Amino acid sequence: MKFVAEALGLSPVAARRLEEKNILKQAFIRHPFFSDVIDAFKLDRKFGEYEEGTLIAKTVDGVQIVRGYPKIRRALTLYPTIKKHFRGEVVFEEKMNGYNVRIVMFGENLYAITRGGYICPYTTEKARMLINPDFFKDHPNLMLCCEAVGEESPFVPKDVYGIKEIDFYVFDVRDRRTNEALPIREKEKLADEYGFKLAPILAEVHVSEAHEVAKDVIRELGRKGREGIVIKDPNMKRQPIKYTTSESNCSDLSFAFRFFGEYGKDFMFSRIIREGFQAFELDDEEEFKRRCTRLGEAILKAMVESIREVREGKKVCDRMRLRFYDLEVFELFKEHVRRMGVNAEFSEPIEENRSYVVWFYRHMKSTTDRIRHILEGNLWQ
Ligand code: ATP
Ligand code: MG
Repeated sequence: MKFVAEALGLSPVAARRLEEKNILKQAFIRHPFFSDVIDAFKLDRKFGEYEEGTLIAKTVDGVQIVRGYPKIRRALTLYPTIKKHFRGEVVFEEKMNGYNVRIVMFGENLYAITRGGYICPYTTEKARMLINPDFFKDHPNLMLCCEAVGEESPFVPKDVYGIKEIDFYVFDVRDRRTNEALPIREKEKLADEYGFKLAPILAEVHVSEAHEVAKDVIRELGRKGREGIVIKDPNMKRQPIKYTTSESNCSDLSFAFRFFGEYGKDFMFSRIIREGFQAFELDDEEEFKRRCTRLGEAILKAMVESIREVREGKKVCDRMRLRFYDLEVFELFKEHVRRMGVNAEFSEPIEENRSYVVWFYRHMKSTTDRIRHILEGNLWQ
């Protein structure tokens, strides 16, 4: 672990603090699939200027730091928030709903790092198939920050994008060592040159009218079941801000109440508060009524389904369809999930067009047990 302290430029005192606070975690599984990595750790929490999820890897190219993706703060109102935080022009990008991946090259191969800083075998396999590696040969200091979206996602499966498997949508190009983001125009140029898909750039508007344009954009995205927008400074010098649709808030709530034993109360509460401010700012009487129904159903419908499942003697489970092109990567992924502390089961792989489909089950034990306890006539507490 000495290379970590050196790479981060820590004094002996700071290095000790890093160890005492238990902030470093092993970030990968030693395996020929990750042959360019000799050793790798990730920051489990923010440390000094380094974001949570920062990866420090000893690789065949020497020691490399890949900074964690910064937190994006949330707006609850469009006005006056956008006006207050930006100057001049702002860009609205679609906020795609998947999971955050940073893609880098070590040695001759691509590596996909998830938000927490793990090198993920599932995602790395797909990145090596879908991302043009020439980009990294020409720009070794840059990383692609992408949303991995689609139905075959181990973490956030969604069918609203019409992607049956999984794909990567670049939303930032950053210096992996300093975390400085390229201006949006340069990102577009690089995407064009190397054939990357971008998270859609929806509009560029002056701050004075941005809140009005955003209202229409948000309603339209909501109708399509999309998540929301990230509002960015074209030069990427100011911190971006996110804002989500009611449909996305409600879909989160539905998920959280389906698995109410597993999800924290903060997760639920924050989404209800978002709906309150959005209703206040956007709704006429009709829209307000529709929102009430949507919110109520989101909370109750999925929860009643879970209760029915337990009454029928089933366990409450989340299930995801995955696809592997190499069964060795499936073995690695099982170990990866185990190390992440996820309680998971997998079906036997079924061969399909030179790949293997696997079902990934997460048993929601706390929800199942609590429902069963109540259905047996016991009291809540
Ligand atoms: P955060 O700590 O950044 O708030 P979170 O886990 O709460 O993260 P989200 O609410 O999903 O995440 O919002 C931020 C995330 O949105 C980013 O980490 C990124 O993965 C995702 N994202 C999707 N589209 C974009 C985009 N166009 N620009 C920036 N981020 C995007
Ligand atoms: Mg997200």
